[in-house]
Amino acid sequence: MTAPSSALRDLLAQLPPESVLTDDESRFRASFDNLRLSVLPEAVVRPRDESEIEAVLALANRDGIAVTPRGAGSATTGAATPVRGGWVLDLSHWRNLHIDTRQGYAYAQPGVTVAELQDSAAKQGWFYPPDPGSRAYATLGGTIATNAGGMRGAKYGVTRDYVLALEGFMPTGEWVRWGADLRKFASGYNVRDLWIGSEGALGIITGAVLRLVPKPKARATMLAGYPDEKTALRAVRRIVRSRLNPSILEFLDRQTVACALRHLEHNPSIPRPPRSFPRRTMALLLVECDGDPSVVAATHERLQRLLEPGSISQASARTPRTAERLWAIRRNCSHAMFQMGDSKINEDIVVPLDSQPELIQLTLELNQRTGLATPTFGHAADGNFHVHVMFNRADTDQRARADEAIDTIMAHVVGTGGAITGEHGVGLAKSPFLSLQHSDAEIRAMRAIKDALDPRGILNPGKVFEPFRVGEHPRVDARMPWD
Ligand SMILES: Cc1cc2nc3c(=O)[nH]c(=O)nc-3n(C[C@H](O)[C@H](O)[C@H](O)COP(=O)(O)OP(=O)(O)OC[C@H]3O[C@@H](n4cnc5c(N)ncnc54)[C@H](O)[C@@H]3O)c2cc1C
Repeated sequence: MTAPSSALRDLLAQLPPESVLTDDESRFRASFDNLRLSVLPEAVVRPRDESEIEAVLALANRDGIAVTPRGAGSATTGAATPVRGGWVLDLSHWRNLHIDTRQGYAYAQPGVTVAELQDSAAKQGWFYPPDPGSRAYATLGGTIATNAGGMRGAKYGVTRDYVLALEGFMPTGEWVRWGADLRKFASGYNVRDLWIGSEGALGIITGAVLRLVPKPKARATMLAGYPDEKTALRAVRRIVRSRLNPSILEFLDRQTVACALRHLEHNPSIPRPPRSFPRRTMALLLVECDGDPSVVAATHERLQRLLEPGSISQASARTPRTAERLWAIRRNCSHAMFQMGDSKINEDIVVPLDSQPELIQLTLELNQRTGLATPTFGHAADGNFHVHVMFNRADTDQRARADEAIDTIMAHVVGTGGAITGEHGVGLAKSPFLSLQHSDAEIRAMRAIKDALDPRGILNPGKVFEPFRVGEHPRVDARMPWD
């Protein structure tokens, strides 16, 4: 390591050694997120309390040191990569959680994982709906900072819809609390909502008050197979128009189904869908409804009828154990894609309901045109699709074709009135597409907010606004907990 900056020497003098880690292993572990693009920070700070965060911010502002807040590092966009070096502020060990069972409020520190909150709430008859696929690892700090979504978005909304209050530090080092432990709060500018989704660039979250909802008493799960994607998407349209509002409506295209089925074949210990499920299936819909038992029974029946036209198979489950078998393909598809390339570009675009067939058609055409796999699945009820492009990193030609395919998809998505990201945020990976989505005036307004709240530009700099081509940078070959 090069000689420490004078700010780091001062930090080491003020904080105990266990709060400031400068060893190679700690710095490396904090140097990348799920995008695996690594930039080494000078130090990793694991503060014991708020006074230590104050010390970090005072020195960082004094000397213009970049500070990148960090939870579990599961961001897929490079948002947690300390791209300007400096210090990583790791809050994953801030894990206090208290649930007020009378009002249905959770008081949480940022390092509590989504799964911990959901499990703890469920034991007390409450439900925290935001449900990213990374729930076992992703922290509340990270999910608030990225406004994470998940499969239940169309019915229950996203993280933002559950945040009542946030407390923490302005980039300048002042402690603040935005919102209150109240269901309504309309006083002043809503900076709480600015912090949500700001990817750690406008404030450091040290505490949150989150709203819970009563836990649904019953749930039914259905899996329907179709001979092609268009027929499956017609069923999606019927369901959305029916206003039955299922809690989950997941779509999987033919490439996704094929790789997941191959994965299940090679891993016989994973519980699988019933045997009757035909191999010629080219698209799948996984549907769940929840609520009171009588409502679920009636909704289940109606959903089955809506899934029927054109389907080649259907299965349904009313108990968690049998439901788990229907989930097998969806749960295993993401990992299974690595059969088709050692690297993956994972986009989380959103398109309007009527543009869904066109989007899937484009991904299939790109598969033919580029020779690269483009498996796509998504949360069809809210039009949020995970479009993937698989390629082998060592092959520069494949890499270029993958980048071209993503450029084509992004231009198409914005052209349909869609969004370049529905839940992952911009970070580094989507930064080249920001100007496709937003006008100059919109980007200037966002920058003005950043400059006003963070005049020294220390909090998570180098993201969102500066176009960064991730394909041009090497990635680390590291195993992460969710792999
Ligand atoms: C297998 C897998 C499945 C996923 N599924 C989904 C999904 O379904 N839906 C979805 O939305 N995302 C999903 N993600 C992406 C990722 O899990 C989310 O973006 C998550 O919100 C990141 O949480 P984290 O704790 O890992 O945050 P990190 O990756 O550590 O950080 C993410 C961002 O939040 C900032 N940040 C972290 N903590 C704080 C804090 N205390 N104060 C201020 N800023 C902070 C960081 O600076 C960074 O900008 C998935 C990722 C993986 C690997």
